[in-house]
Amino acid sequence: MKTYQYSNLSPEEIRKLLKRPKIDFTSIFKTVQPIIDAVEHDGDEAVKKYTNQFDGVQLDSVVLRPQDIETDLDPEVRKAIDTAFDNIFRFHKAQLYEPVEVETMPGVRCLKVSRPIERVGLYVPGGTAILPSTAMMLAIPAMIAGCTTKVLATPPRKDGSVAPEIIYIAKKAGVDTILLAGGAQAVAAMALGTESVPKVDKIFGPGNQYVTAAKMILQNSEAQISIDMPAGPSEVLVIADKQAKPSYVAADLLSQAEHGKDSQVVLVALNGFDLDSLKAELKTQLAELPRKEMAGKALENSYTVIVDSIERAFSFSNQYAPEHLIVNIEQAESYTDKIMNAGSVFLGQLTPESVGDYASGTNHTLPTYGYARMYSGVNLAAFQKSVTMQSLNKEGLRNIGPAVEKLAELEELQAHKNAVTLRLNDLE
Ligand code: NAD
Repeated sequence: MKTYQYSNLSPEEIRKLLKRPKIDFTSIFKTVQPIIDAVEHDGDEAVKKYTNQFDGVQLDSVVLRPQDIETDLDPEVRKAIDTAFDNIFRFHKAQLYEPVEVETMPGVRCLKVSRPIERVGLYVPGGTAILPSTAMMLAIPAMIAGCTTKVLATPPRKDGSVAPEIIYIAKKAGVDTILLAGGAQAVAAMALGTESVPKVDKIFGPGNQYVTAAKMILQNSEAQISIDMPAGPSEVLVIADKQAKPSYVAADLLSQAEHGKDSQVVLVALNGFDLDSLKAELKTQLAELPRKEMAGKALENSYTVIVDSIERAFSFSNQYAPEHLIVNIEQAESYTDKIMNAGSVFLGQLTPESVGDYASGTNHTLPTYGYARMYSGVNLAAFQKSVTMQSLNKEGLRNIGPAVEKLAELEELQAHKNAVTLRLNDLE
């Protein structure tokens, strides 16, 4: 990891550090568009063709019904999944809110209620690893929101099956259809619908550049779908002060780096943090990791910035807008007001990012690439839309009518004015 002293950096150098590596979507779009077109034209047959081509699996059927499949899990694995499931369920269930009802003026009643997005597609990546955690992060809020059609897409394993852990979670969360496909063909099948895949209204979930590109193309197409957020490679920013244990900081940095060679890892070190011990720890811990090659590559693109104040540390972090922010400083919880832009935050020495990745209850599908400036991570509201309602009584119509008539007149919309005037006249 390269090291920079913040006070020696020019504004231009800081701007460069805050930037993520550019993803060239034009060439990816060129690969993905024909896949989408083929799925639109040939439905299931196209999904089978690309699954054979990219995943090396010949499918008889592109879907399966999780409720029909028996799963036999290792009891320890089942217990761990159940623990995570319960926490994620609890935290997301608490996000249900009561309808908002306001009498804006006497006799004018306004309401805001939430309703589920009825049909949702949940993408669970599976190219390089199985991710039961992502299945939970998407299926549990969809279940709580009351989405009626839940399609979970994931690339099949080499023998054409789906990991039993994912089937177990899908059953528990009431997923009706598992689509045995990944990449652009899976996203297209859910967005457009095929003979056996129901069309959905919104697609959620992380994935590689083909998945992201397909989501981007289809949300701007006639498919009429929305997506959770644009996604890029995973990232973490750690703020560490002199009390932060170098071995913990190293483990946290590496836990992000092992996601992939394009992962972004940033350390903002306050004066007094033991950087020499960190370097030694990184070396020792990295050597023991099964994914050391990938993690090592990610570290090569990563950096440390040394800052001289906590204010500077948070200001840098807010500008970077990390997907994950670990605040490993003394009394971390007292600084939450300073955090403006971050997907999910981990406060204090005893709170590694891993707990949020799996089981604390918060969601791990989060905005990357600086999008934490304006996007939230997946949460219950992402599976809902709000509907507003209003009702007026006689008093309300008399109170509000003249203002509406005047504004309609101003905008030269006579029928709008008439709709009020006719009713007001009948009240006389
Ligand atoms: P994936 O499921 O996203 O992609 C695999 C699919 O890509 C394959 O099924 C195949 O159809 C398609 N594909 C492969 N090569 C292709 C090609 N040349 N042309 C067209 N399509 C092709 O799995 P992955 O590749 O392992 O990527 C997972 C991604 O998800 C990683 O980037 C990881 O960091 C990210 N992730 C993010 C989070 C988060 O919350 N941010 C969580 C988990 C995973």
